[in-house]
Amino acid sequence: MRAIRFEADGSVKLVQLPNPQSGPEDVVVQVLAAGVCHTDLHLLDEVKAGERQPLIPGHEIVGRVSEIGADVYASSVGDRVVVHFEQPCGQCRQCRRKRTNLCEKGHSLGFDAPGGYAEFVVAKQNTILPLPPNLDPAVAAPLGCSGATAYRSVVALGQADEDDLVIVIGAGGVGLSAIQIARVQGARVLAIDPREEARKAALDSGAQAAVPPQEAEAAARDLAADTGVDLVIDLVGTRTTFNLGRSLLGFGGRFVAMAPGTESVSITADDLVDGGKAYLGSYSSTMADLARVIALVEAGRLQPVVTRKGPLEDAAEVLGDLQAGRIVGRAVLFPGPMNP
Ligand SMILES: [Zn+2]
Ligand SMILES: [Zn+2]
Repeated sequence: MRAIRFEADGSVKLVQLPNPQSGPEDVVVQVLAAGVCHTDLHLLDEVKAGERQPLIPGHEIVGRVSEIGADVYASSVGDRVVVHFEQPCGQCRQCRRKRTNLCEKGHSLGFDAPGGYAEFVVAKQNTILPLPPNLDPAVAAPLGCSGATAYRSVVALGQADEDDLVIVIGAGGVGLSAIQIARVQGARVLAIDPREEARKAALDSGAQAAVPPQEAEAAARDLAADTGVDLVIDLVGTRTTFNLGRSLLGFGGRFVAMAPGTESVSITADDLVDGGKAYLGSYSSTMADLARVIALVEAGRLQPVVTRKGPLEDAAEVLGDLQAGRIVGRAVLFPGPMNP
């Protein structure tokens, strides 16, 4: 099969590999569409720095089941499916507590197991969900990471609710999903992004206002009146964005960090206790999160923003454009036909 591999020298290469084989409880999925996530850029950096083995990236996957293992009971050849990239072990302490996003022993497609920038990928049978018949694979692909991750942050952890004021810092692919999901919950949204195009996309996704960082405080005060901000979703992960979020958070507010970052930040006990605020970290998502966002898209209440489509061979170019901030919303790659 053809696949894209991140090589140790930092290059993004098209390679020929043997087709993968399924284990007894696995399915082989012929990839129809694979979303390009910002995390892929971090992975490429890590491979280049020798912190990670060369890998086949791609963790936003929609495809068609092309082969099933001997013990697969819930899926048939030909089924169109959305794949969750997390392949939890099902047995560790976190899995037993239904926190499969934090599995201690599993694998993640596109991270430490071969991912979806390839013609075929192998997944456990309990990590796929049916693709609703009316859903375009290219639109559904980003749900696997950006949609489900946003849902976990905004709803499962952030508890966005009717009439809340939610601030979304960073209106990229995940940010636009977060905005739409917060709106579905009945919240008002202020989006913050230095890029004009991203702010426009944020407004199109339902945000009440979208401003550059330097105007954030005034805009938040305008929208919050005297209630303060109920939820901050930080998709950037710098000290600056943390401090901005912290300064805006109102009584009972929740700050959810979604982006990795290494800058140290500080909060005081007063920040937590005075006003009963919570600072939370959100990591990945569960099958339940994915099922909910698929249902939202099927019902027309969530619309992933896909602005760029290309064949698998375009991977290097698309990643370069993503790095340069030239892609608003999501880019999707097609290992096979462009309109699967
Ligand atoms: Zn991702
Ligand atoms: Zn586990």
